[in-house]
Amino acid sequence: MGFENLVIIGSGCAGLTAAIYAARADLNPFVIEGDQPGGQLIRTTNIENFPGFPEGINGFDLMSNMRTQAEKMGTRFRSGVVERIDLRRKLISCDGDGIESRTIIIATGASPRMLNIPGEEEFFGGKGVSTCATCDGAFYKNKTVVVIGGGDSACEEAHFLTRFCAKVYLIHRRDQLRASKIMADRVLSNPKIEILWNTIPLKICGEKKVTYLQLKAQNNEYDLPCDGIFLAIGHIPNTKIFADQIECDSEGYILTDGVSTKISGVFVAGDCCDRHYRQAITAAGMGAAAGIMVERYLS
Ligand code: NAP
Repeated sequence: MGFENLVIIGSGCAGLTAAIYAARADLNPFVIEGDQPGGQLIRTTNIENFPGFPEGINGFDLMSNMRTQAEKMGTRFRSGVVERIDLRRKLISCDGDGIESRTIIIATGASPRMLNIPGEEEFFGGKGVSTCATCDGAFYKNKTVVVIGGGDSACEEAHFLTRFCAKVYLIHRRDQLRASKIMADRVLSNPKIEILWNTIPLKICGEKKVTYLQLKAQNNEYDLPCDGIFLAIGHIPNTKIFADQIECDSEGYILTDGVSTKISGVFVAGDCCDRHYRQAITAAGMGAAAGIMVERYLS
């Protein structure tokens, strides 16, 4: 059994910022990286709204820099996922190893929401269904693809995919985009993107790979031929493992007072507890606050 001052669960923007603050305060933090080291931003293209980068910064570079900075300050990292945890006793089991800690910061982020329609699972990962245009977009050079969703992510992905693809359909269930004006305008003015409003995906079809998508618009059902389908319909907080130990809202976001929880010595930061903003900079801000709170708690 290892003994720690502070275990940070998650290595996205929130976790790494918490690590920078805690390491700088000489707390010798230990980060369990989770199943996607670097978090969601590692799969993002250009980030235009993270302060300090007037020309924007690539998500991979931003997260690599944060990790280097945390490491330089004295953070220790361990790859792997937490399989069991007792928050009150602060006992963590990670890939079979036991760790006891004086404090914990939960920074487990969120994962892409799925449509849960027929064909989605069958064609996911290399067969035409993806949740990451940055990762998979280049496979669809001169092809026709579909992006599903109406938020900033869907608009960003659709716009990004026009770099490679001949045609991009954006399928949205309503008649108005949820995305911010700047992102929406970018999509609306891109001649390669066609928006199909008030349209609901029913079934993903093909043989070895996706060849068409069954859609419903008003009372009309029809097939849309396409080579790839990118889901961008939001995220679900990664809190299942804590759900019976800590208070969460109806969607699974951990309920907090600032970054504190009702469990002494357990703090939370980032998308796993933020249903309102979900920005890189707000996650980083919460990570900083959690690092400071741990320092105060331990002293
Ligand atoms: P989001 O804002 O929650 O949007 C999700 C979209 O998916 C909505 O348009 C929603 O439709 C649709 N949707 C949800 N469930 C669906 C279903 N079952 N079937 C069909 N459509 C469904 O999520 P997001 O776009 O991932 O953005 C999350 C946060 O990150 C936001 O705060 C956003 O501003 C931020 N973000 C910012 C940037 C940027 O600034 N560059 C880029 C990406 C994300 P309805 O509209 O009808 O609800």
